[in-house]
Amino acid sequence: MSETFVACRWTRGNRFFPIKIEITPMQVIKVKRTLFSSDEESISINKVASVRIKKGLIWSDIWIESSGGSDPIFSHGHHKGDAQRIKELIESIQSQYRRGAEDIGVSEEATKKCPFCAETIKAAANVCRFCGRDLSG
Ligand SMILES: [Zn+2]
Repeated sequence: MSETFVACRWTRGNRFFPIKIEITPMQVIKVKRTLFSSDEESISINKVASVRIKKGLIWSDIWIESSGGSDPIFSHGHHKGDAQRIKELIESIQSQYRRGAEDIGVSEEATKKCPFCAETIKAAANVCRFCGRDLSG
């Protein structure tokens, strides 16, 4: 699962080899190609401190700042919708990380098997959340 956003060719600096921003579940990668080389910068998603969008009339500029001491990623000339999507994607992946950390906490809680449907439920449950049967008696 990754999404790639390409800067518009009609903007400054993107005429022949537009900058590509790739968002994967692990990192944000900026790929800048030239005739002779391909230059990549990346920041881990969980190190992204902030995503700032500067909206122009048609195009948006994006700064992705890192809390890990590496240089921010700057990209110029993205469609407004793309810039917004990049910000949303990064923020949703970050919140999934946080939720993931909470899930690990939940799974450490004591569990038991429901005697009726055999699903795993919390040991303290009085009602099975799968079949809805009363377990208190
Ligand atoms: Zn059950």
